Amino acid sequence: MNRSGIGYDLHRLAEGRKLILAGIEIPFEKGPVGHSDGDVLCHALCDAILGAGALGDIGSHFPDNDPKWRGAPGLLFIEQACKMLANRKMRVVHVDVIVICERPKLNPHFPAIRSALAKVLGLGADDISLKAKTNEGVDAVGRGEAVAAHAIATVSIH
Ligand code: MG
Repeated sequence: MNRSGIGYDLHRLAEGRKLILAGIEIPFEKGPVGHSDGDVLCHALCDAILGAGALGDIGSHFPDNDPKWRGAPGLLFIEQACKMLANRKMRVVHVDVIVICERPKLNPHFPAIRSALAKVLGLGADDISLKAKTNEGVDAVGRGEAVAAHAIATVSIH
């Protein structure tokens, strides 16, 4: 039996911050603002994984006002979410992620991102779908003021 969960995240972009996606640093003049590393891909995917398990959301498990989680890398949240799933006899079998930003081009970084996700999720590269889109110049994302991500995770119950 399978279940699915969805996740979404957005962070404002500012100069002087590192742009991190799935723990991979993407060369760019701006990066996300936030208490954490602002890894929108991981935050959206973590919420998708938790959603598939009906396990709440990233903010309830990893509040950024808790020193334990402040500044924690996004991949750590995914690792923790997978452990919570395992406790309920579930595991992630497939993920599909969309990252939306005007710049930079993300596709050249997909191999590195895919392999980072494969490692933390315990999946093969073929089980990880990545997409990059722009916002066609519209809204904050389109003006280059923010980066957003959508994710869906499918889990199997064993
Ligand atoms: Mg976030």
